[in-house]
Amino acid sequence: MAGLAVERRSPNFGRMSTATATLTPCCCLCAFNGSNQLAVRKSGSTIELVFTGNDLAAAQRQLESALTACTPPVEFFSFEAGGHSYRVFFVQVAGATCDPAIEFQSIERLERLPAALAPALAALLAHLDPFLIEIPYLHLGENDYIYKFRPEKERNISIYAHDSTASALYQSKLCTAIKALARQHERSAAAPVALDFGAVRYLVPSHFGFCLGVKNAIERAYETLAESPGRRVFMLSELIHNPFVNEDLLRRGLRYLQTDKGAPYTVEGRVATGAGGERLTWDTLTAADIVIIPAFGATDDDKRRLVRKGIAVYQYDATCMLVEKVWKAARAYGREGYTIVIHGKREHEETKATFSNTRRHAHAVIVRNIEEARALGAIIASDNPAERDRFYTLFAGRHTPGFDVARHLARVAVVNQTTLLMNETLAIIEHLRAVYRVRFGDETLVGGTSRRDTLCYATQVNQDALALALTEPLDAAFVIGGMNSSNTYQLYRLCAEKLGRKAFFIQSEASIRDRTEVAHYVFPAKGPAENHGSIEMRPLWPGDASPKRVLVTGGASCPDGIIQQVISRINSLFPTDTLRPIDAVLVDLSTSEA
Ligand code: SF4
Repeated sequence: MAGLAVERRSPNFGRMSTATATLTPCCCLCAFNGSNQLAVRKSGSTIELVFTGNDLAAAQRQLESALTACTPPVEFFSFEAGGHSYRVFFVQVAGATCDPAIEFQSIERLERLPAALAPALAALLAHLDPFLIEIPYLHLGENDYIYKFRPEKERNISIYAHDSTASALYQSKLCTAIKALARQHERSAAAPVALDFGAVRYLVPSHFGFCLGVKNAIERAYETLAESPGRRVFMLSELIHNPFVNEDLLRRGLRYLQTDKGAPYTVEGRVATGAGGERLTWDTLTAADIVIIPAFGATDDDKRRLVRKGIAVYQYDATCMLVEKVWKAARAYGREGYTIVIHGKREHEETKATFSNTRRHAHAVIVRNIEEARALGAIIASDNPAERDRFYTLFAGRHTPGFDVARHLARVAVVNQTTLLMNETLAIIEHLRAVYRVRFGDETLVGGTSRRDTLCYATQVNQDALALALTEPLDAAFVIGGMNSSNTYQLYRLCAEKLGRKAFFIQSEASIRDRTEVAHYVFPAKGPAENHGSIEMRPLWPGDASPKRVLVTGGASCPDGIIQQVISRINSLFPTDTLRPIDAVLVDLSTSEA
């Protein structure tokens, strides 16, 4: 241990105190286990810091005698107590200690025992909050990812399809055959696949449905449930925006801590109203519980709450690595002095997580679309103080505290919510470049132009594959996905541009009532959080029994099983003697050439 390099971190908004000459310098190693619990020593009725010394080497020797360190010490902050000035280092440790006086305690539990805390430990806890977010990830380097995509051969598909309900939801022979035929490359769209059922012919884009981030998160959730009998397993909020997937997880015992808008659930399973006397599920969490973080990621505040409770955050963090890529880009821009413009919907979990993560490294503002980017551009371009002050009204609740228009719009870099349209993000970047070119004669003051890698290829490839399918003649298009699924809505928009009211946004086969009408979901103009969508009954083919050509696709949160069930449902609208059996269609696919 003595030879390990020491890293010094000083988060932008953290507090570092300066030792004075009258204080005795001291070093303190905070040792956290995999559940983010702190090693402390019990001495009679007093709880105190364990690994301290005149210098780091002395503190390390103490640690080595009691525990096995897994990470190099990282310096975070300093504080003063009892005539000493402490430099504070964090380290992750593994295994049990041989010293019976040392125990691991959650931060929350320690804070509940103020009378038992030695002064130095109490002072340390008082400074800890801004740094809690770092603890679960101490073992990760700058370029590491929390949860990497699993290669196909390591996928664990059987874990979530071992009963008939789950098989019907997740498995589809048709979808498997379509992917084998058309999906030669994960990241590039190919020609659509035709399914000739006779009276109805389907076109399915080469890319549709679950992305790798969603597949990874689903596998993590089902594996965790299967591996953790006797433990309570929670998801921070919905795993993905698909009610059928979420219901299946609930059926297997998963519980949610909060809604997708961050409203906490009560222990009775109701959304909390804030009325007195409500008992929140959050408040019942203990270190024995498991909380899975979904693919969207989580805000720093939520992660800090979990760390305080001594919950193993990293082990169950299923944040998509493409979302984390956005966080890394924002951090890199922040270090270069840019303010971050986040193209996203403020109510979306992913954008909330990105904003929260970004504000540790830079000032940030969320813009919803190109219109808002134009409004921001007008503010940047203006010398008029009244116009510049509009920033605080227009972007209220969507900028970092202490945002100063005079200073923090000198250089901006754009990152995005991964599921929005790539072209809109690029249009925002181009618009801001034009503004800075005119105003400052320097468009390089806008970062993000070379960083297309913050756009999710999975969302884009589903859109590209759909665009190829839409070049064919069609009688209708069905786009399947959850009501609050942003990427599904983007797919629907592309279909509606070509097919108008013969494009349908549906949730499952149940939305197709009969030959005459379909329950089409009208996505709310301002997003699901700000106003509610509605169901509109739209005609399908009333009084028309002619053969049809139908496009079917699904958003990134749509399981394959639902796509096949929609196809079966549409088939059921035609006389059986006009339809070819599914096995014949599967033979077609197996003998077709890509
Ligand atoms: S849509 Fe993209 S960013 Fe979102 S979970 Fe899927 S792969 Fe990740």
